[in-house]
Amino acid sequence: KLYNEIQDLKGNIRVYCRVRPFLPGQANSSTSVVGMEERTIAIITPTKYGKDGSKSFTFNKVFGPSATQEEVSSDMKPLIRSVLDGFNVCIFAYGQTGSGKTYTMSGPKVLSEESIGVNYRALNDLFNLQAQRMGTINYEISVQMIEIYNEQVRDLLQDTTLEIRNTSQKGFAVPGASIVPVTSTSDVVELMNQGQKNRAVGSTAINDRSSRSHSCLTVHVQGRAITSGSILKGCMHLVDLAGSERVDKSEVIGDRLKEALYINKSLSALGDVIASLAQKNSHVPYRNSKLTQLLQDSLGGQAKTLMFVHISPESESVNETISTLKFAERVA
Ligand code: ADP
Ligand code: MG
Repeated sequence: KLYNEIQDLKGNIRVYCRVRPFLPGQANSSTSVVGMEERTIAIITPTKYGKDGSKSFTFNKVFGPSATQEEVSSDMKPLIRSVLDGFNVCIFAYGQTGSGKTYTMSGPKVLSEESIGVNYRALNDLFNLQAQRMGTINYEISVQMIEIYNEQVRDLLQDTTLEIRNTSQKGFAVPGASIVPVTSTSDVVELMNQGQKNRAVGSTAINDRSSRSHSCLTVHVQGRAITSGSILKGCMHLVDLAGSERVDKSEVIGDRLKEALYINKSLSALGDVIASLAQKNSHVPYRNSKLTQLLQDSLGGQAKTLMFVHISPESESVNETISTLKFAERVA
């Protein structure tokens, strides 16, 4: 019961869709193309789907523009329990740049108690629950923070480049990645801020690099049962993915094109892995990107995946919104 709460017929993969509200200043210039009903998003675009035409996409849950951070994070507890029971969990934020991925995971730039995102809430739940178990199971918790940019893996906690190795026993591993012990959410927040600084320093392009790299905060948990002495290990990956927007190859050149091709490659590799897990295929193509290699142990098997798919409401984004929803439809 403990770790089966979020399972349903689809197995261990859940996909939630969140619609960003119009931003200040945007409200009057745009009309929304997004209709919502229970678990369904409808895209209303007469030019694409004919007069009065729309296309619908169904999710495990749908969050509208007025959904609070608390509502969006309401399913963290069973996932956290599962991590402390020794399972692996991946939480992803997917969507085009500006659709609200970082808002969901971390919150807005200036944080308040209400606006903190999934990361903080998950960590709070983790530390609270491990404290409740103290005396029965004692836990050691540590974090790692990794960025994947142009298929290169960087350790954001020590600002170094890392290699992913394919070890015969353990699958893929990242030797040399720094893993820092933590005892509270604020310890983790401090490390996250340090990691974000390293991310900015490493930036070469003028544009915000964070929208074109995947960042992965991994929380490792090791528990020791006091009476039996048995050890359990679990981990949680909190992944803010690179922006999913397709760039027009005729319009970009050089570094920008290279970045776009790498992002495209790794997001489709992620989509392929999750889709083949959802279809219970025997072959899962983990090898095709650094991202899926890094997360192999936490995608499939008994691991649980929660993907937040983000869309923007405005008509200007409709083509990206449709391609985001198509991606989601494949993995859901
Ligand atoms: P992304 O990480 O996908 O590029 P952001 O999370 O940075 O997008 O969001 C873009 C902008 O929209 C930011 O200013 C952010 O604060 C705002 N925003 C995103 N989602 C919401 C939301 N649910 N409520 C209010 N503001 C939001
Ligand atoms: Mg972002």
